[in-house]
Amino acid sequence: MEEKKLYINGEWVKRANDDVIQVLNPASGEVVGTVPNAGREEVMQAVDAASKAFDTWAALPARRRAEYLRRWFDLMREHKESIARTLTLEQGKPLAEARGEVAAAGRFLEWYSEEAVRVAGEIIPPSGEKKRIMVLRQPVGVVAAITPWNFPASMVTRKIAPALAAGCPVILKPASQTPLTAVAIVELAHEAGIPRGVVNLVTGSAALIGETLMADSRVRKITFTGSTEVGKMLMRQSADTMKRISLELGGHAPYLVFDDADLEQAVAGVIQAKIRNAGQMCVAVNRFFVQEGIYDAFVSRLRTALKQIQTGNGLDESVTMGPLIDHKAYQKVLDHVLDARELGAGLLCGGNGRHEGGHPEAGYFFEPTLLTNVTDQMKIMQEETFGPVLPLRRFETEEEALLLANDSRYGLAAYVYTQSLSRGIRVSEKLQYGVVGLNDGGPATVQAPFGGFKESGIGREGGHHGMEPFLEIKYISIGL
Ligand code: ADP
Repeated sequence: MEEKKLYINGEWVKRANDDVIQVLNPASGEVVGTVPNAGREEVMQAVDAASKAFDTWAALPARRRAEYLRRWFDLMREHKESIARTLTLEQGKPLAEARGEVAAAGRFLEWYSEEAVRVAGEIIPPSGEKKRIMVLRQPVGVVAAITPWNFPASMVTRKIAPALAAGCPVILKPASQTPLTAVAIVELAHEAGIPRGVVNLVTGSAALIGETLMADSRVRKITFTGSTEVGKMLMRQSADTMKRISLELGGHAPYLVFDDADLEQAVAGVIQAKIRNAGQMCVAVNRFFVQEGIYDAFVSRLRTALKQIQTGNGLDESVTMGPLIDHKAYQKVLDHVLDARELGAGLLCGGNGRHEGGHPEAGYFFEPTLLTNVTDQMKIMQEETFGPVLPLRRFETEEEALLLANDSRYGLAAYVYTQSLSRGIRVSEKLQYGVVGLNDGGPATVQAPFGGFKESGIGREGGHHGMEPFLEIKYISIGL
């Protein structure tokens, strides 16, 4: 069992009173490690350290910051296997997925090490001979990053890498369910020699740490991935000190399968966009809309594919889907299924699935579940399920499909399957979503801007767009 510490001002520190949070393996209920339950003082110390580090870090030539990030990336590659194991142990996803996630996490460090040196200002032509207009892009200041448990590695580097590249020190608060992966990644930042105070890690109560960071005027930006509910609260809390905010929140992704879709591709896309991570993704499909002509063939193939999913402990290499993260998650998914069943949904496979061999208090396994005849009244068609439950509904026309797909307060990801180029482009343009997978079940990637419309958030992460939220624009008007 690993007993981890806080990382403040370049040092690993223990809480004086030994107050800790236990980290559980969701496949077995076993305690796999502990992290300190930080108090207000430690959070303040982390902000002190980051504030102190700001000027020097921001003033470093971008090339030097890039070299630190590159070194960190090299170490991530070297330690990929051990981080992936830690990730599966505390989060549950199959080892193959964990390896993929750690590789993706590394790519954020790599990409932003390259992007760091491309932040340039502008010289704008003035209106008079005796003026010059110079525009600088400068780091926004100390950044607080709050990350979720569903991608414990890639969400950490997706936030820290662009912040550091831009010249901003960071205080990271990882989710309490999965802090060990974050600790492992920060250990490598330390090994890469990143200067004191530039990266800090605090673990513990989200409410206390969040509140302390949000109240501190020295923290100039908050970048958060998590639920819409918490995102809205952070947005309110940010008002008093006018912090810059980036919010990547919940989704309610529609998946449109048109008559002219490639069936095989459409079914493979579901596995990527719904079964991966046991459906615990903000980009996970929540609503399937299938056109009349292809409905029966699609459903039959899908059912066959779902029956091949091996649910179990992610450390077992033959397993293709792990458990849900905790009891609360399990209850929510079960509640969505029971509610839909009560209101008349049909059940084609799955339905519950507490694993026979699972720990009585844990092992939150949920079988892939196919529901038919779903209606708008069902919770599953209104709220994010965050589990491997697939509600299916038929449609007749393209207009109808678009109306159904856009009828949501969320706007993160949407998926479209069609072999028609013009339909694909037409529908993609009309979807009110920040990310569209057109014949693609896995659109997220380091070089593309990722983020949501509507209540799915504010701002973009990834690509050169992902640097912008960490930069302020300063205009200097010069009289000659
Ligand atoms: P989920 O419901 O998917 O677990 P949350 O929004 O609750 O998503 O959690 C995402 C992240 O937000 C986690 O790191 C969690 O610790 C953090 N968090 C939860 N509540 C708060 C809060 N009141 N203030 C700040 N951060 C919070």
